Amino acid sequence: MSFSSLGLPTYLLKALAAQNYTEPYPIQEQAIPAILKKKDVLGIAQTGSGKTASYVLPILSNLQDKVLSKNRHVDVLVLVPTRELAVQVQEVFHSFSLSLPEKIKSFAVYGGVSINPQMMALQGVHVLVATPGRLIELLESNAVKLSAIDTLVLDEADKMLDLGFKEEVNKILALLPKKRQNLLFSATLNADVNNITQLVLHDPLVIKIEEEKENIDLITQTAYAVDDAGKGPLLRHLIKSKEMKQVLVFTSSTYKADHVADKLRKHGLNAQAIHSKKSQGARTEALKQFKAGTITVLVATDLISRGIDIKFLPFVINYELPRSPKDYIHRIGRTGRAESPGEAISFIAPEDEHHFKIIQKKIGKTVPLMDINSILGKE
Ligand code: AMP
Repeated sequence: MSFSSLGLPTYLLKALAAQNYTEPYPIQEQAIPAILKKKDVLGIAQTGSGKTASYVLPILSNLQDKVLSKNRHVDVLVLVPTRELAVQVQEVFHSFSLSLPEKIKSFAVYGGVSINPQMMALQGVHVLVATPGRLIELLESNAVKLSAIDTLVLDEADKMLDLGFKEEVNKILALLPKKRQNLLFSATLNADVNNITQLVLHDPLVIKIEEEKENIDLITQTAYAVDDAGKGPLLRHLIKSKEMKQVLVFTSSTYKADHVADKLRKHGLNAQAIHSKKSQGARTEALKQFKAGTITVLVATDLISRGIDIKFLPFVINYELPRSPKDYIHRIGRTGRAESPGEAISFIAPEDEHHFKIIQKKIGKTVPLMDINSILGKE
């Protein structure tokens, strides 16, 4: 199957080739033709499946055939749960927009940063990517109008509802024109998501991409029994001995993330921390530099464990274990994505051993627990 058989226009095919997208992923094969035909779509798929391009490409193509909205009216609204996802989705719109004959302006709005620059920038936007809370604030100040919306995307709908955005989403839905195309993506299909799909979607094409298990199968998982004092030296040893050029390290607190990044920098490694106490600007910049390979080690809390896409991330390290097996899967799912193999390494303190057994049981895999003395002794 090739992209050219899906009905996309030549300029997008060229943009795809330029971005090294050689073949469509399964979700793209199914979603692109349906969205081009203006059908509603329900995509049960996770980050890593290629879901973003599966809606961005046909939406951009459809926009080329319509009279675009003006001033503070927007044509396409993409609702997302987090700022990071907002930035990431807008980047995909932007990167593919560059090749279009008819210029499309996309913009991301999210909370945690000053609202004024966003208000000013909303003039002339066609595709708005927004977190629900900030969108409501902008609507209340008349900075944006939704009455010309032609296509609505709810991305990571399950996460959006988990984060308590139900009321905001309902408020936004009430402001949209009745006649529109609706696309909803969710990693899981629980009762809450079901409610919203019934409310929003009309005779949708349902696409289900089984992923979590397959993803995990691609990942080599290992664990080291190590006490707190040994974690720093072990981390440095692994980075050096495995010649890691890009590694995402997870801690469970913002304090620890800063501490681990500081320590690594003192040892001459290019490391940065990313967590909720950092400013939005610092977070965006750290992610950008990490993606570009300027930062070798990104130390993060669970804030970014979901929804953030980093192409071909080869290593994830759990410096501290997450509490839930679900978070463990989401963390290690940052690697071994998009069909590239990855390695996930967990540091297991004596008090974590029992909890780690529970995680292994939940994911249905046994992860070998190695002794660090043997490897550190060899250094
Ligand atoms: P997503 O699930 O949308 O977060 O996409 C996961 C990753 O796969 C992103 O880095 C995309 O750039 C990449 N990607 C998506 N579709 C393709 C494709 N057909 N070929 C190569 N890379 C892709």
